[in-house]
Amino acid sequence: MSIRPIILIPDPRLKTPSEPVTEVTDEIRALAADMLDTMYDAPGIGLAAVQIGVMKRLIVVDVAGKDEPKNPMVLINPEVVWESDEEFRIHEEGCLSIPDYYEEVERPAQVRVRYMDLDGRTREIDADGVLSTCLQHEIDHVNGVLFLDHLSRLKRDRVMKKFTKAAKREAAV
Ligand code: ZN
Repeated sequence: MSIRPIILIPDPRLKTPSEPVTEVTDEIRALAADMLDTMYDAPGIGLAAVQIGVMKRLIVVDVAGKDEPKNPMVLINPEVVWESDEEFRIHEEGCLSIPDYYEEVERPAQVRVRYMDLDGRTREIDADGVLSTCLQHEIDHVNGVLFLDHLSRLKRDRVMKKFTKAAKREAAV
């Protein structure tokens, strides 16, 4: 198990849909373990494989509070199969690939997510609250979508510009 570097915007991989996982292999189990290590180290409450540069449809989340025991979840090929279309929830979101930037995003309040677990079984989970927001944010990542894409063009362009400049500065050093 190890902590892997997290890629940042404007890395084009973050705008690219990831590939389905066809089989749960040792490689996939090791990847999930590394993703959890990386997420806890950051620290964050969710991470998609693409954020460590692996283009596979795999996410990890843990929305347990500070004083609660850890509750790591690994979701393979996750997809939203139902969402509440009349009830919405606004949450201030951040992203490990967009450090130190937070903005309120409105999303469906409840979702049902279908995924494969590490034993290769298909499962469904009903989520609301922070878990619902977090799952939607991470599932966006496997589809090449960022939470910035839910904001106004003005806000999105401003953030992209800032991070593009920072990446250029870094490349020049
Ligand atoms: Zn994110």
